[in-house]
Amino acid sequence: MAYLSTPKLIFPTKDYRVTGLPFGKKSSHGGVFWGVHLGEDYFASAGTDVYACGRGTVVYAALHAGSQEKGNWGHVIIIRHKSPYSRRVFYSLYGHLGTSFKRIGEKVALGEPIGFIGEGNTPENGFWPAHLHFGIYMGPWKKEVLPGYWKEGEQRTRMEWWINPSEFIVDYEKKE
Ligand SMILES: [Zn+2]
Repeated sequence: MAYLSTPKLIFPTKDYRVTGLPFGKKSSHGGVFWGVHLGEDYFASAGTDVYACGRGTVVYAALHAGSQEKGNWGHVIIIRHKSPYSRRVFYSLYGHLGTSFKRIGEKVALGEPIGFIGEGNTPENGFWPAHLHFGIYMGPWKKEVLPGYWKEGEQRTRMEWWINPSEFIVDYEKKE
């Protein structure tokens, strides 16, 4: 199957900016290193529309409900893209959505609504304030959800497969 080419990228919400954990931030819990953030967080009201950052195909859409003990990320959507500039395949990831308007296999247009930011502090979405977690991934696709953090000793992902999302979008059309 031919991959949809993605000539242009936009930010995934209106007024998007990094208002929470930035990309690559080392997080600790009780003074102990816990993990490196693989995306960036935008805190906004529940119900804020989330858009596809570029044309592509939905390759993952599922609810990952958390619990009081273990936060998770509500609905998560992953879209596959292909750059006509670098010819590389990459993925955009949207976490902590309240719902998903899209299913696996559906094509999405640039800026098409795919869901909205879910309520914070709920069992479904995790026990933190309402926000979007947005990531850009360039590693191999294994048809399963991708992690939000890189954790030492875990083999789930590699830091070099992740890119600063805001920088990637701003520089996208300049990339060779
Ligand atoms: Zn995050």
